[in-house]
Amino acid sequence: MTEVRHSAPRPKPGILDIAPYVGGTGALSGVAEPMKLSSNENPLGAGPKAREAFASVLDKIHIYPDGHAGKLRTAVADLHGIEEDRLVFGNGSDEVFALLNQTYLSAGDNIVTGEYAFLAYRISALGCEAQVKLALEPGYKAEVEDLVAQVDERTKIVYLSNPSNPTGSWHNGEEIRRLHAALPAHIILVIDEAYAEYVVEPEWESAIDLARTAENIVVTRTFSKLHGLGGLRIGYGYMPKAMAEAMDRIRLPFNVSVPGLAAAIAALGDEDHQKASRDLVLEWRPRLTQAIKGFGYDVLPSVGNFILVMFKDPAEANAASEYLNQKGIIVRGVGGYGLPQGLRITIGTPDQNRAVADALSEFAAR
Ligand SMILES: *Cc1c(COP(=O)(O)O)cnc(C)c1O
Repeated sequence: MTEVRHSAPRPKPGILDIAPYVGGTGALSGVAEPMKLSSNENPLGAGPKAREAFASVLDKIHIYPDGHAGKLRTAVADLHGIEEDRLVFGNGSDEVFALLNQTYLSAGDNIVTGEYAFLAYRISALGCEAQVKLALEPGYKAEVEDLVAQVDERTKIVYLSNPSNPTGSWHNGEEIRRLHAALPAHIILVIDEAYAEYVVEPEWESAIDLARTAENIVVTRTFSKLHGLGGLRIGYGYMPKAMAEAMDRIRLPFNVSVPGLAAAIAALGDEDHQKASRDLVLEWRPRLTQAIKGFGYDVLPSVGNFILVMFKDPAEANAASEYLNQKGIIVRGVGGYGLPQGLRITIGTPDQNRAVADALSEFAAR
């Protein structure tokens, strides 16, 4: 002990190899209310019922939340027709991924995902001293065979978001079943369905049905996107009961807040707000895609509440981002995902979408 007395605390191996997460920015100097289209939030905000529920708990915020999330648990189980005791609620679905990693990954194990997959899966895996094995996505989609090819004897979890962020790609039911069938039963398959509600493709299927009878599937959902509650941090995973029980042992007892629980329950009952939020995306996703393609840029086909615009190179993407900033619009550079030539743009309100199209049209013509 005496020999290390003068050295500063040192993080365990791997921690400092994690690139700090850079979220979508929300501020522009000199612009009072920028159009924030950088984090796939709901441009309509939370719905009236969720707001009312949030306000109604003001005199209860000194009381610890129900650590079992009992009422929300019942509401979510009813919504999907699933078992209450197979759900784990998290401080956002991000926490569900972290709990999965902490529960199942030992040092030297690995997770498998696509090269452009959501970064949250990797961050906590690296924090568990695990490795991250990436399937290449030459077509901006993690193909089943390429994911399976990355699996080895130390693989514990395969992560796939469906739809995927930031590429907007998706997998049909047959592909998900094929992926599951190719994995040995001790490997967990996580299907992240954060954007499920925005998909209209008839061949898309939620993995919840497959998960009902599987021993190694986890399906995650969130209140951050369709329900507009990103700031309250609530998500959940549906999984085999034994997995839920294992994860509950390390879950912090009060990980979801009183206002979060109240607002999430109310949001599930606000079908008008859900419909308005979905309709906005379904109307503007194709319109904005067509408009931006018309200015000469590649736009990846997306089934989420965002589009990914591909520029000729990273310099052009940066210039476009700066041009949009000058117009008070914030979009998301995705260099952190290995796509420095791309800008991800959340579908906004009609006015915001028109402003994006006008700005990119001017940028293209400059
Ligand atoms: C936004 C998003 C989530 C949701 O994260 P929360 O922690 O629930 O806010 C999950 N997965 C993907 C791919 C996302 O883009």
